[in-house]
Amino acid sequence: MTPPDTLDLRSYIRTIADYPKPGIQFRDITTLLGSARAFRRAVDELVQPWAGSKIDKVAGIEARGFIVGGAIAHQVSAGFVPIRKKGKLPYETVRVAYSLEYGIDEMEMHKDGVAPGERVILVDDLIATGGTAEGAVKLLRNIGAEVLAACFIVDLPDLGGAEKIRKLGVPVRTLMAFEGH
Ligand code: AMP
Repeated sequence: MTPPDTLDLRSYIRTIADYPKPGIQFRDITTLLGSARAFRRAVDELVQPWAGSKIDKVAGIEARGFIVGGAIAHQVSAGFVPIRKKGKLPYETVRVAYSLEYGIDEMEMHKDGVAPGERVILVDDLIATGGTAEGAVKLLRNIGAEVLAACFIVDLPDLGGAEKIRKLGVPVRTLMAFEGH
């Protein structure tokens, strides 16, 4: 018999109270990334529903989405495309405005980062209000990508982000949830 699987991914997340400002519980994934077993497990579990599917690109959101998304792209033999804050990418870009908790910002990707019709998985470390991921889905769809799914290690369901993305018709995969902000 196989021994029971005892790796509890949740225990690898470090919580820092009142960072970066009072009232926020910062869910730090660097402690998960620092564990070879936990990092590998998180990557495997995030893409498990799409194992065997054709995935052309993984799109990662700056900056922690680059780390998780890069590992996922390698795992599923897909290309990687960065989605960045405006002004950081060197070539011609497409841009979209997205809502933050207070105000709006803009994010960009290279205009040839994804070809029309390519099948893309979107990745970030955490989904809170979903404003960032919603902007990324719009950006990808604007250039003709088929967004197969959005994957996050951590969900903060009280903020409704995963629900917002599902309402756009994009399946959402998360590995754990924490209450509150
Ligand atoms: P949102 O657009 O509200 O879904 O925010 C998601 C982005 O903000 C992600 O890129 C996260 O890395 C970051 N973020 C938001 N809230 C937290 C939190 N409590 N702990 C860590 N990162 C967070």
